[in-house]
Amino acid sequence: MTSHIMPTYGRLAVTFTKGEGAWLWDENNNRYLDALSGIAVCNLGHAHPAVHKAICEQSQQLLHTSNLYNIPNQEQLATKLCALSAMDNVFFCNSGAEANEAAIKIARLYGQQKNIANPAIIVMQQSFHGRTMGTLSATGNPKIQEGFTPLLDGFVHVPFNNIEAIETALSQHDNIAAILVEPVQGEGGVNIPATDYLNKIRGLCDQHDILMMLDEVQTGIARTGEWFAFQHNNIIPDVCTLAKALGNGVPIGACMAKGKASQLLTAGKHGSTYGGNPLVCSAALAVLETIENEQLCQQATDKGHAINQAFTEQLKNNTHIVEVRNKGMMIGIELDAPCTELVSLALEAGLLINVAGEKNIRLLPPLVISNEQIEMLVNKLSALIERHTQ
Ligand SMILES: *Cc1c(COP(=O)(O)O)cnc(C)c1O
Repeated sequence: MTSHIMPTYGRLAVTFTKGEGAWLWDENNNRYLDALSGIAVCNLGHAHPAVHKAICEQSQQLLHTSNLYNIPNQEQLATKLCALSAMDNVFFCNSGAEANEAAIKIARLYGQQKNIANPAIIVMQQSFHGRTMGTLSATGNPKIQEGFTPLLDGFVHVPFNNIEAIETALSQHDNIAAILVEPVQGEGGVNIPATDYLNKIRGLCDQHDILMMLDEVQTGIARTGEWFAFQHNNIIPDVCTLAKALGNGVPIGACMAKGKASQLLTAGKHGSTYGGNPLVCSAALAVLETIENEQLCQQATDKGHAINQAFTEQLKNNTHIVEVRNKGMMIGIELDAPCTELVSLALEAGLLINVAGEKNIRLLPPLVISNEQIEMLVNKLSALIERHTQ
């Protein structure tokens, strides 16, 4: 049958019909272990009862009224996010790209306020910030940008995890208004920077009076073992974007801001029809409450560590392994050669994984994955890697 969906995705030949925790079932009732969580979205696993209950109850009351009126659970969600992050306020939207668009607009307003005619943002090579024209232009991957020129002006790309490169850019450009960076690069291949990288960026942003903007669309909401990855560094950014796990599957994005960045997007400057509607906010509130109740930050820390140790042990004699690394439940296994075929081989073996940056197996398991499931993941995937690298 001809598909009437635009061919923007190379889809794997499987159709899932239900899920529970880290399990998924296809239409023939085959069971799969999900070590990807819909790309860091379903941190609470599939069909979590708390999210299910929140969505059902809210849909009986009210789905949507628009942002022309007060939305009490949006207020509540913003208050909760600010309490958890020490940020001041939040703009709600529907995706990661939109959250980053808000951040880019804040940076431009901040620059204009400082009388910079053409404000620019320092961004990183191998970064990923989304597919809208603005976020695509910020993204540090020529493959993703190919075919879409003219790109948006005002982005200066520098190598990731390289403070000198940022210093050089700051000395060469007098129009920098902000730095935008992922605390751990996800799509780029689970790239974990030096432990003090964010601290040094915070220092440079203070020194130059520019905004520190973190894209926590993938790292946020307990994924790395803290509510937000910047909390590993005891710093607070000026802007922090969220999406993916915030709704555990319902589309919600957020751009949080602090201090001087928090009062720039005023009435008429930005908006979103759906952004933060009652339905998605009910889901996000249930997500945050569940992360607290089930202590999922601690679980992400412990399980991420256990998974790293187990793979390191199982693969210790394999000379094709460059590195096993993790920040909480963002896990990367770097091989010495491209390994994208592993994705379909794993699927055949009943395991959902991903490969990012061609040579890095990327694992983003639900934070609720059980110890037995972890053992199964490590055993199955190690065997596949051994066979593949022979
Ligand atoms: C997924 C992702 C985005 C884009 O989010 P969408 O919801 O697909 O627009 C942006 N930044 C990072 C770091 C991401 O991982």
